[in-house]
Amino acid sequence: MSSMPLACAMDDKKKVQESLGIALVGLGSYSTYQLAPALEQTRYCHLAGIVTGTASKERQWAGKYDIPTTNIYNYENFDNIADNTDIDIVYVVLPNFMHAEFSIRAAQAGKHVICEKPMAMNVAECDAIIDACAKAGVKLGMGYRLHSEPYTQEVMRYAQEKTFGDILYLTAEAAYRSTGNPNQWRLNRSLSGGGALVNMGVYSIQSAVYGTGENPVSVTAQEFSTRPEYFKDTDETITAQFEFASGALANIMTSHNIWANSLRVSCSQGSYELEPANSYGPLSGRSTKGKISFPHESQQKLQMDDFARHILEGTVNRAPGEMGKRDMIIVEAIYKSIAEGNQKIALALGNMGIV
Ligand code: NAD
Repeated sequence: MSSMPLACAMDDKKKVQESLGIALVGLGSYSTYQLAPALEQTRYCHLAGIVTGTASKERQWAGKYDIPTTNIYNYENFDNIADNTDIDIVYVVLPNFMHAEFSIRAAQAGKHVICEKPMAMNVAECDAIIDACAKAGVKLGMGYRLHSEPYTQEVMRYAQEKTFGDILYLTAEAAYRSTGNPNQWRLNRSLSGGGALVNMGVYSIQSAVYGTGENPVSVTAQEFSTRPEYFKDTDETITAQFEFASGALANIMTSHNIWANSLRVSCSQGSYELEPANSYGPLSGRSTKGKISFPHESQQKLQMDDFARHILEGTVNRAPGEMGKRDMIIVEAIYKSIAEGNQKIALALGNMGIV
């Protein structure tokens, strides 16, 4: 286990003595603008290494974050990371088609794994990641930052404690309007595994589950296409309705053509909502009892510290691999419903992925 940098420890006497080293795999926009800056604020983990296919990024990142050459890898020599005691956790931040390969290689190298969403291209790949981590005896967490975010945790608490009575109806929307390069990997099904549903839709699926505290027992879905010339290969807009064993209903919408970012829950004794509900924050919320308010902190900082504490102290894994797999089962059921002419698809998830 890597030791904490001395300068940090001296800065703050209260800081923990141990900090885990994280290697980011894939230095695209999320690593550059969210994860690396967050790793300058984390207490229980720090940026120790990078894995990139772009040689010019090696120099830039090494200079900016003071990363020794011995902690820099490319996709070919990545497996040598097994011998590197500075690195405890590998964080896979690559296009979706590379998640399974690099999560499995990281596990086989004996490193704990954080895998970005969506977990993989399909449920079979999710199983392969989970199996590889179990076999290697390493921890597996999803990059579901909202599970560490206080507004979201408050909504989870309302669901668990039934603060506003029985949950009757939930709506969740997670969408943005894509107008950029039509050849980007997110719009190429062989690289992304799907369109809006696997990208933003995962947030609305997540909202429906943590907003009710239950997994759905059925899903019925619809697909809409208004810009087929741009969205040639992937889904543009999808709506889906979930039924829950409690009797609650949910209606979700996801799109690469619409701006939307909300979660609303109607209960027998009140209601509450978050808007924005999915972005990097600060989120905002209100209930029939008043404004919901928490100080803002980097969600990614909170998420990575939570995962590091799970490893160091045995605290709960807020977003385990089974949760990523559960969401991919729901994604596949939504696509199946659409393919079968909007048929209702039964789901038998039990408590899978509910922490
Ligand atoms: P991005 O396109 O900005 O970066 C992708 C990186 O992968 C680039 O550095 C690119 O060079 C590299 N790469 C390697 N092989 C590639 C190939 N064949 N095609 C394209 N790129 C290739 O993407 P991003 O926004 O950083 O997203 C990366 C992952 O993180 C995705 O799985 C995405 O869903 C996830 N993500 C999660 C959040 C979140 O809030 N949790 C936010 C953004 C992205």
